[in-house]
Amino acid sequence: MIITKAKPTQDVLDMLGNVKKVLLTGCGECSTTCRTGGVEELDAMEKFLTENGYEVVGKCVPQLSCNKNLMKRELKAFKDSGYEAVVVMSCGDGTQTVAGLVDSPVYPANDTMFLGEIERLTLFSEACRMCGDCVLGKTGGVCPITKCAKSLVNGPCGGAKNGKCETNPDVECGWILIYDKLKKLGQLDKLYVANDDKGYKKNLYPMTINLKEDAANE
Ligand code: SF4
Ligand code: SF4
Repeated sequence: MIITKAKPTQDVLDMLGNVKKVLLTGCGECSTTCRTGGVEELDAMEKFLTENGYEVVGKCVPQLSCNKNLMKRELKAFKDSGYEAVVVMSCGDGTQTVAGLVDSPVYPANDTMFLGEIERLTLFSEACRMCGDCVLGKTGGVCPITKCAKSLVNGPCGGAKNGKCETNPDVECGWILIYDKLKKLGQLDKLYVANDDKGYKKNLYPMTINLKEDAANE
């Protein structure tokens, strides 16, 4: 899930500036779960903006804010509402989706933090940095890029103390987690094989994935 955190509301006011009529969009998946872009949060934002002299002319929470076709259909309902700006309460992807579909300025109400797991209702932890070359099969399912403070592909660095990372004594050393997991799996031999450099230069940004073309090339 994409984890987002609400920006300070004053930032939203600063971005809106002199605009008066505002459309609010959220997202029914990740931002609803993060409580940054569900129905309740849009209602709260409407109240806040109204109290600050803005007119919210429409609100929508599509199931997925990052689905271009879905968002296009949702936005159609507001084409005559006279909005001068859109405040998007989803992740950066959802914000860019909306920005590509409307002619008005689009402002993000959230900061996009990481791809992570839902530990419990209000607790999320970073799990993947989308490196484009997953090594979890070699590391016992523990991500070295995310769980190690230095994103070492071969570790540990030698600085760990009592199982904690040298950069933060409150955090487990990712490579000790990897060692413990591989030991449990009976796969410690994997530690004797050096992992290749991640080779980030292979990733050309922005990346695209075309499932049809990929299937045709297989
Ligand atoms: S190695 Fe880590 S960052 Fe890379 S894809 Fe796998 S889980 Fe994500
Ligand atoms: S102590 Fe462990 S988690 Fe911290 S930087 Fe070194 S290897 Fe990575």
